[in-house]
Amino acid sequence: MTRKLLLVNPAQYIKPNLVTVMRLPPASLAYLAALTPSDWDVKVIDENIEPLIFEDADLVGITSCTCNAPRGYEIAREYVRKGTKTVMGGVHASFMSEEAAQFVDAVVIGEAESIWRGLLADFERNDLKKSYRGERTNLETQIRLRPDVCSRKYRLPSVETSRGCPSDCEFCSVTSFHGRTYRQKPVEDVLDQLESLKSKYFFFMDDNILGFGKQAEERAIRLFQGMIDRGLKKKWGCAVGIDFANNPEVLKYARKAGCSAVFMGFESINEESLEGMHKVRNLRLGVKNYEVLIKKLHDHGIGVMGSFVLGNDGDRKDVFERTAKFVLDSKIDATLFAILCPFPGTRLYNRLMQEGRLLRTNYPHDWKYHDCVEVVFKPKHMSPDELTDGVAQIYSALSSRLTSFRRAFTSAIQTKNLVGSGIAYLWNRGSGRLWLKKYKDEAAA
Ligand code: SF4
Repeated sequence: MTRKLLLVNPAQYIKPNLVTVMRLPPASLAYLAALTPSDWDVKVIDENIEPLIFEDADLVGITSCTCNAPRGYEIAREYVRKGTKTVMGGVHASFMSEEAAQFVDAVVIGEAESIWRGLLADFERNDLKKSYRGERTNLETQIRLRPDVCSRKYRLPSVETSRGCPSDCEFCSVTSFHGRTYRQKPVEDVLDQLESLKSKYFFFMDDNILGFGKQAEERAIRLFQGMIDRGLKKKWGCAVGIDFANNPEVLKYARKAGCSAVFMGFESINEESLEGMHKVRNLRLGVKNYEVLIKKLHDHGIGVMGSFVLGNDGDRKDVFERTAKFVLDSKIDATLFAILCPFPGTRLYNRLMQEGRLLRTNYPHDWKYHDCVEVVFKPKHMSPDELTDGVAQIYSALSSRLTSFRRAFTSAIQTKNLVGSGIAYLWNRGSGRLWLKKYKDEAAA
């Protein structure tokens, strides 16, 4: 008998974020689809790009990050009402497993790959357990994700080469979820996967493609050299720390292998804030060198999307104007501004809770505000409204049509990459408009 498995990525409350705008596929669901035995019929629905019509299924698996967890619980409630068994996993369910257990039949804590087939076998025997604890996947032997279950819906296919991060930034859930481990896939496996991609464009979904330390850098160069040797001729982007720009060999091979743009965590132009968040590598290379690092990327024809976090304890009211000025002076191609967010499971969340500074604590309802767009805590040197106004000030300064055009023009001159500069224009203009529309709508309400 063929059973039907429905895997769901719930909608996020607010749209302007990297995942929804770039339409990156939810890789965790594609891995689970690949691990599901062939006598199951598997369907993946990503509510961020298509509606969920609550079709019938034998088992529904729901992934969760914090801001979409309330929607995940709604979906689970509807399926429970229909008498369908439900499972929830993902980062949020892993950290808030007791909360998730109130809404679903089974909760998966940690990475699901190691327990998935056992969980399905339990379901088939009508013996689903309340919780499953997954082990860290050995990427040396990991199965490939199934691209067919999330293909045409997405702008960019994504490829994973590593998991985890040995750094320990206070606000980040990567280390609390993965431990301070850094696991890598064998280079030849990654190259085989890249060779099988039909698309000319793709995104490396690793938290940091370069990794850390000499060996990791050599591996990255081997990967890029392999892409060149195999004549892949693809264009790609990736997420990296600022160290990426400080290694000329890495830059040279990355560019030759088709690297068009990097998503880079500058996080702050304020050293006091970097110290507070324990962003050790940025402190080591120094804020005063940010512009030099951006120039090095540009000299290799690589565009930069810089990520900045605002509202840190080291930030005072002048941080907004200074950040906007830095963006224009440094000629950074595209930017993402996030409001500091205490996600459950992070050291930041625990600290702010102890200090009595969490503002949105009607859980699980209020998890939907934990999206780096809302202020959900009391900032140290300003009010929550002043923090929101300050981010609006940055977007107003940087995302008007004229400024976005000027930035794209500068980007085209710097990188000589017209397609990348066009995307930077669309991103800067689009993300700013979305953010400011929400800001104005809320002010008028
Ligand atoms: S923010 Fe980046 S460098 Fe820091 S722990 Fe998270 S993934 Fe690692």
